[in-house]
Amino acid sequence: AKRNGRNRFENFRLEMDDTARKRRVIEMDLRDAITERQLRLYYQPITNGLGTEIMGYEALMRWQHPLNGLIMPMDFIPIAEETGLIHSLGSYALHEACREAASWPGDQMVAVNLSPIQFKNSALYSVVESALAESGLAPHRLEVEITESVLLDDSLGNINTLQRLKKLGIRIALDDFGTGYSSLSYLRSFPFDKIKIDKSFINDMHDSREALAIIRAITGMSRSLDIETTAEGVETDEQFQRLKEEGCSLFQGYLFGRPQPSESRLINNAVA
Ligand code: C2E
Ligand code: CA
Ligand code: CA
Ligand code: CA
Repeated sequence: AKRNGRNRFENFRLEMDDTARKRRVIEMDLRDAITERQLRLYYQPITNGLGTEIMGYEALMRWQHPLNGLIMPMDFIPIAEETGLIHSLGSYALHEACREAASWPGDQMVAVNLSPIQFKNSALYSVVESALAESGLAPHRLEVEITESVLLDDSLGNINTLQRLKKLGIRIALDDFGTGYSSLSYLRSFPFDKIKIDKSFINDMHDSREALAIIRAITGMSRSLDIETTAEGVETDEQFQRLKEEGCSLFQGYLFGRPQPSESRLINNAVA
């Protein structure tokens, strides 16, 4: 038994080493990724209640690594946040998404994710301002998505930053709603334009009464507060139909289109 215990421990240590090594490699390479133009934004459509019209796209970051191929955000965003590189990544995302969206038809909007760490940098406001100015994108066509962790601790004046951003005319969405510490009281701390219902609830809605009840509570409350709701992670028509009945106004998920590079965005995202 003792032997087994030690083997297990050694295996564990090997895995640790491996993770730590992988991490160090990612951290070093990420520094060059921006200057070497290896970061890309993929765009996922967001449709209206008929599922017929694309109202805009969420910009989702990918890292095209020269040796390791396409790296997903969960494998580099946390490291970017810990190392402070998120400020450059975030600035790139804002500038690139606005530049891209400026060529889209009509009023189609682009949604950009902001990390809570970006609020620690007082330059965030001016980065948004310059992304708008340089692209010429009308401010109401830019939406930023934040998570409740931005509101959890206001010692840095995050709410004040949000208010200033909103005065620029951009829209502010509360992402992943229903997860973590989510509390309805956050909705009092700031007038959000939109709530995105976390995809875990959509995923479970047909098997779990609790998930459906939470979706219903969120849509009911959003209706009274006059806030739009987006359902994310919609994969089946069954989910889509039910979410419409529950009063969701916007929809995002593989059912309507996967995140795509901008070149293939128009060709492949045929909406039913
Ligand atoms: P998120 O903001 O909640 O983005 C939605 C995630 O759900 C995306 O994962 C998207 O590809 C995925 N998704 C969309 N539709 C479906 C569906 O029908 N089914 C399933 N199973 N998944 C779906 P992705 O692209 O891997 O991004 C993961 C997370 O990384 C994002 O979650 C966001 O928190 C973060 N992220 C992505 N891009 C950026 C960025 O530019 N800046 C920052 N700070 N974070 C980013
Ligand atoms: Ca998001
Ligand atoms: Ca989300
Ligand atoms: Ca998320």
